[in-house]
This record gives sequence, structure tokens and C-alpha cells, in this order.
Amino acid sequence: MRIEIVNTGTELVLGDTINTNAAWLGQRLAALGLEVSRQTIVPDGAIIKVAIAEAAARSEVVLITGGLGPTNDDVTRECTAELLELPLEPSAEVMAHLEGYFTQRNKPVSEATKRQAMAPRGSQVLMNAFGTAPGLYLPAVLGAARGWNAHLFLLPGPPRELKPMMENQVEPILRSLLPDDADRAVLYQKITGMGESDIVEHIQADLEAMPGLELGYCIGKGDVDVRLAGAADVVAKAAALVRLKVGDFILSEDRRVIEEVVVDLLAERGEWVATAESCTGGTIASRITDVSGSSGVFGHGFVTYANEAKTKHLGVPADLIASHGAVSEEVARAMAEGCLATAGADHALAVTGIAGPSGGTPEKPVGTVFVALASRGQETVCRKLFFPGARDRFKLLTSQGALEMLRRRLRGINPTP
Ligand code: AMP
Ligand code: MG
Repeated sequence: MRIEIVNTGTELVLGDTINTNAAWLGQRLAALGLEVSRQTIVPDGAIIKVAIAEAAARSEVVLITGGLGPTNDDVTRECTAELLELPLEPSAEVMAHLEGYFTQRNKPVSEATKRQAMAPRGSQVLMNAFGTAPGLYLPAVLGAARGWNAHLFLLPGPPRELKPMMENQVEPILRSLLPDDADRAVLYQKITGMGESDIVEHIQADLEAMPGLELGYCIGKGDVDVRLAGAADVVAKAAALVRLKVGDFILSEDRRVIEEVVVDLLAERGEWVATAESCTGGTIASRITDVSGSSGVFGHGFVTYANEAKTKHLGVPADLIASHGAVSEEVARAMAEGCLATAGADHALAVTGIAGPSGGTPEKPVGTVFVALASRGQETVCRKLFFPGARDRFKLLTSQGALEMLRRRLRGINPTP
């Protein structure tokens, strides 16, 4: 099914608003096994008509976002009605919704707002629970006179209105339009601790030999998605093969990122983690606390940037720092063990390294970092990692490496491969 997206809005072409709707819609459609063939951005105004006409002439589905609001630059609804030569008629359902919406806010329904209750004849209104502008679905038959075979969806611009409408109303319609999707499957295997070229080396040749398999890779923040699509049995076979080849490195098959996986694993076991961070400045703690429910598994995060802080809060002996240097395996291990004891946690992650751009030495160049994991009743482990580059990237990849160490231990896999 050929599918296109048309994003409208002058703010998008000016760069004032980033076109997040296109990215989000692309992801939602990919999850349905649909790949967008083209995205178009146009400013507000009559050019919207041109963009819709072009997309409708070459596609089976066109998702159009923006320009449904009450202001006079919002003209998507009118442009579409003109294109299809359909009269606009008031929708009683939308009018009632608008009246309810404004009564609740103690305001009269303005004339400008009433324009939103107009719908092209034959279209289906998609109610908007989070705003005033409803969406519209125009089945392909409405454009048949123009020689088109495209289902058109007009959707609101604001992401918080667009998203629930897409999930709850548009996707069920799209599913019903798909020829026979019962047999089609899409799976994302999220891999970390292994670079993209390494992954390719391990799995590509075997997967390419599988007829009917669509294979894709997408580099994320510290991880790589292997995307498998095709007939369900083919995808299942391919997924089994990836598990066989690089199973220990697969962190999720449901798009969860590592902090979510780690929080879930800790919660399942009723265990707690604490963090002691130097060069990452709290990034690991921040990522853990991005996850809802993290308060049940995370209670203490230390940022011990100075040597004195490592000694004072984590009990790292000053002479250990003096003899080995703050960036050393010995100090990383002592930080993790001190953190475990101080916090009374089940696991403690510690990192110490040189983010740069200054501070490197020949034996410890910028990008060197030691990551240690101490766990109650288990051997403390440490890895030396190397992430030269910008500071934000260094912090991200170091936090990824630390969380990966804990994930592996929680899954009963060697934490230091
Ligand atoms: P509109 O309904 O087109 O007037 O859009 C209203 C607001 O939604 C805009 O001012 C933007 O803040 C936001 N918006 C519109 N289109 C997009 C888009 N493609 N991506 C992200 N935000 C958008
Ligand atoms: Mg607008």
C-alpha cells in the first residue's frame, strides 16, 4: 500500500517548529508494516491543494497534518473540499462537542471555531478529545471522479491531539484497508554493546538468504534496532536466527530502551540499584529516573566529581586515588563497593573517566572510562571502555555501557563480555 505524508504549516518550513509529526507517524506506520514512500512539507495557503492533489494521484493513503484550526491560515479542510468538489456541511456531532468544550470553559463558541464543525460531504469525522479541531477521513471513493484511489486523512497539527487520534481512530481504519495483514509481522530487536558493523557481520549473510524477509537497521542512542518484516513465519525464523547469533546482546524485542529494561528486571526481582558517577555527572541516574516506576528500584545516586567527594561519600581511600589516579580500575571498583554499602542497595554502578577535551595522557587518553558493578554476594566486575568524542556522546555511551553491565548481570549473562 503506497502511503504518503503531507505536513502543512508555515512554522515547519521556517524551521520554527520541528516536524516531529512526520517522524512519529513514520514510526507508527512502520509498526503496522507500512513504509511511507514520500513526505512533503508545505507552508499554509493554497499550495496545500497542490500537495494533496499530487500525493493523492500517486498513493493509496495520504495522511495530512495541520491547518484544521480556527485561524484564517488554517485552510486544509477547505482546500480538500475544493479539490474533491465536495460541499462543506455542518456536523451536528462536532457542533455538540464544540458547545460542550466551550461551556466547560465558560466561553461562547466563536464564529471562527464554528468553521471547524464543517465537514466535506461523505467524509467521516474523527472526534478530537484533546482539542477543538476534529480530524476527517475521506474514503478513496470520494476522489474517484478525479481518477484517484487515495484514502485521505486530515489530522490536527498539535502532537498531543494528533497522537491519540492516530492511535485510536486512524490506525483501525488503516488496518481494515490492508489487504490481508493477518500474516504480516514486524519485529524490532534492539541490540546494544555491539556496533552496527559487528552486528551486520554476524547476521546479515544468513538473513539475506531468507526469501521474503525485509531487513533494516536503525542506529539509536547507544543501541541499534534490527527491523525484521514480512510474513509471520519468515520473521519468526529470522528472529530465532538473530537470537542464536547475538542473543546475549539483544536487550529488548518490544522497543524498550535499556533503562526501561533494567528498571523492569530490578522490579521483577524486588532489587535496588544505586549509582556513583564521576564523569557522567548523573546521566545514569537521570536515565533510570526517566522510567516511570523507578522509585521502586532506585533510591541513591551520588555524583562524586571531586576526589574528596569520592572519599567523603563513598569511602574511597585517599591514598588509593593518589596511587592509581582517580581514573583507574581500582578507584572504579572502590566507588562501586562504597556506593553499595552506603546506599544499602543490591547493585551499585560506578563510573570514572576522562570526558575531555583536556585531561588525557598517553596511557589514559581522552575517552577512557572505567565502569564497575558491585552486587551483594557477587564478585565486583569492572570494564575499561573507550569513547573518544564530544562530551555529550561520551556521557551517553558510558551510561549505556554501565546499564548494559547491570542488564547482563540481571539476566544471568557474563557482565563483562
Ligand atoms: P496547526 O493545527 O497546523 O495550526 O498546528 C498547530 C500547532 O501544532 C503548530 O503551531 C505547531 O506547534 C504544532 N504542529 C503543527 N504541525 C506540526 C508537525 N508537523 N510537527 C510538530 N508539531 C506540529
Ligand atoms: Mg497552522
